[in-house]
Amino acid sequence: MKLRDVAIGANASMYKRMQFRRIQGVYYPKSEAELLDALRHAHEKGYDVTAKGAGSGLSGACTGGNRERVMISSLHLTNVNSISLEGRFADVGPGATPNEINEKLRPLGLRFFVAPSSRDVATVAGLVSTDGGGNDTWANGTMRDNTVSVRLITHAGDILEVDREGVRSDNEELQENLNRVGMTLDDVASSHGTLGFIAEVRVAIKPIVEEKTAGALVEFEDYDAMGAGLLQTIDRKCPVRYGEAVVMAHEDVREGLNPPLLILEFPHDFEMEFCNADVKKLTRNDLTRLQDLRLKLPKRNPNVGIQVALFEGYGLHGDSLEHMGRTIHEIDDVLRSNGMEPFAKYGHAPSKWYLGDNTPAFGLIMHSREIKPEGKTGPEIYQAVEEIVKKCDELGVTPKPEHKWIYSDDAKKKRLLELRAIMGDSFNSFIFESDCASQTLSTMV
Ligand SMILES: Cc1cc2nc3c(=O)[nH]c(=O)nc-3n(C[C@H](O)[C@H](O)[C@H](O)COP(=O)(O)OP(=O)(O)OC[C@H]3O[C@@H](n4cnc5c(N)ncnc54)[C@H](O)[C@@H]3O)c2cc1C
Repeated sequence: MKLRDVAIGANASMYKRMQFRRIQGVYYPKSEAELLDALRHAHEKGYDVTAKGAGSGLSGACTGGNRERVMISSLHLTNVNSISLEGRFADVGPGATPNEINEKLRPLGLRFFVAPSSRDVATVAGLVSTDGGGNDTWANGTMRDNTVSVRLITHAGDILEVDREGVRSDNEELQENLNRVGMTLDDVASSHGTLGFIAEVRVAIKPIVEEKTAGALVEFEDYDAMGAGLLQTIDRKCPVRYGEAVVMAHEDVREGLNPPLLILEFPHDFEMEFCNADVKKLTRNDLTRLQDLRLKLPKRNPNVGIQVALFEGYGLHGDSLEHMGRTIHEIDDVLRSNGMEPFAKYGHAPSKWYLGDNTPAFGLIMHSREIKPEGKTGPEIYQAVEEIVKKCDELGVTPKPEHKWIYSDDAKKKRLLELRAIMGDSFNSFIFESDCASQTLSTMV
């Protein structure tokens, strides 16, 4: 095994069995000049490129599949290059994490408001590429809502500045062609590294405002009541600052919790009400204890067996939230028919994400954990993932909302193909192969 075989290995997804020998080069550029050199090499040799941040993405896109490819990491491009107090933005290297950025902003009383649980490792370019966000997206929006523009470099080395209005580039023909089809930041958001290398991100920054908040626990009779309660919170645009849901939890880890329930934090002078459940006010200590219990759910195991994240996330909104009981039971039926026992379901609510056609969706981002069946092969486990994606499409659930699961998102895929036809099609091409799911990914489980 060569050094390059392990150098780029970190990857949080379940797609681990990579053919490292197909990687033709691994680059860790320290400047834009070195990045352009790496891209020039890939372009001259005709190699596909996979851009990689921290590898914390869960959809497998940062693996590059099993193609012959060059990997380019952003982990040495972490500078906060400049901060504009007047313009309320900061220009940061693609490898900077939210925590690193906020360390620089805190003394100035400012903050970059994107806070995924992985904020200590996830990079801003990775967050743009997956349109990530934390449990505060209801209040603060997703990564695209907090991005002013990105600097994107194509396989041929053309530099594009992409913002909400369009594209600017020294390559006037390319600029004109991309503006003709209306390319904007929305296209780069959630593009899974398929358009180019994000070399810099201009993030929006805002003042930190101290606010007195109150906490509450809301227990619902059943899933349908929870769905109705959430729809009511969304309709009323309730000022929820922190919203976590425990939809179900295995008895071994329930610790006195009575799901389905919501743990909420909101301005102390706001009257939080539900038409179908009581709101129990929480002391600061109880709020912290419940938040902690919720955070520990994915880290604990049942008394017998171990938990797995077969399918990382579900976005329930509209009809799927209104009929939440049916939605959950039908998903559980698919899990059980594949040998999985539901273990815990929890997540951010109310929350926000974007659909593949860039319309915002509001609802529950629900993570799901299962008890692992014995003796299943990788392809058999992947079969369950595919069945769930199909079920989600049927139920109007957004599969993997943080990652927009582009393998099943036809609107996003079609748009990315249109743009790649203009700007080059050599970034993360494996995602567009017709057998990406059935062959590449399933053999990597
Ligand atoms: C414990 C844990 C908790 C998590 N919690 C959350 C959460 O709360 N919210 C959430 O949204 N996500 C969460 N995630 C998922 C993950 O952190 C996000 O998807 C994150 O955006 C990935 O960033 P990354 O730097 O690790 O990117 P990677 O995993 O390295 O890559 C992800 C995608 O971005 C592309 N990419 C990376 N860098 C570039 C670049 N410079 N140019 C172009 N494309 C690029 C890659 O090709 C790939 O397609 C969590 C993951 C873990 C492991």
